[in-house]
Amino acid sequence: MSLTFKWKSLPFLNARELIKPTLWSKADLHLHTTYSDGYMTPAETIEIIARDASVTLIAVTDHDTTEGAFLACDYARRHHPWLEVIIGQEVTTGEGDVVGLFLQRTLPRFDTAAVAIRAIHQQGGLAIAVHPFVVWCEMESVGRAILRLPFDAVEVRHGCPLSIPANLLTGLVNRFGQRLPALGNSDSHLPFSTGQAFTWFPGTTSADLRRAIETNTVKPGGTTWKVRSLLRKLIYFYQQRQGADYAGDPELQRFKELASD
Ligand SMILES: [Zn+2]
Repeated sequence: MSLTFKWKSLPFLNARELIKPTLWSKADLHLHTTYSDGYMTPAETIEIIARDASVTLIAVTDHDTTEGAFLACDYARRHHPWLEVIIGQEVTTGEGDVVGLFLQRTLPRFDTAAVAIRAIHQQGGLAIAVHPFVVWCEMESVGRAILRLPFDAVEVRHGCPLSIPANLLTGLVNRFGQRLPALGNSDSHLPFSTGQAFTWFPGTTSADLRRAIETNTVKPGGTTWKVRSLLRKLIYFYQQRQGADYAGDPELQRFKELASD
């Protein structure tokens, strides 16, 4: 959370707004748990983020299920109520992944992105084009569909360092296309990189974030995954392949104990 004055819009502010600074917060709206291809349970994910990350609002967006998101939301409410969890899902379509935010229930897979967007909107959710031009790491992306489909926002900063060229392309295409609200998200599968790419929004709550997306007042922030969390991820994968429980990491073991209620 940080206090930032809207310097760019100063000429348009009235006197009251001039005196009252806008409170901006960070959200990370794309991350995974063991309910899809993430490596930590929803409870462990919340414990790690509550201790490690600089965000106060997250969306859990497992592939093709909201189950982990509901569990993470419930766990955060009971143990870390300052950390708000939006129910999300990364919906698989025949044209690439679409993230739904503010969902009520799990959506099925769809043949087209257009049908997925309609289904997300029917639940009162927001449809996000995630990593639109990333085509490696087994990611399926909607590509140029961000020029024509009624997405509510687009992820222009995806956390994986390999996505940097695709992120630049997304920014350009969006700038000359629909100018959709631009988000930054980590797409963390191990939560240590949560919040390293993030979305700035005015306000503090999920309702504020939703309003910010709807009024196009969000901004991407942060970086791709930092070296420290990348190294940690590599060590985790290496040790896990050796068969060590919790990759032989005593800190992860502690999170596991904290999260076992
Ligand atoms: Zn993802």
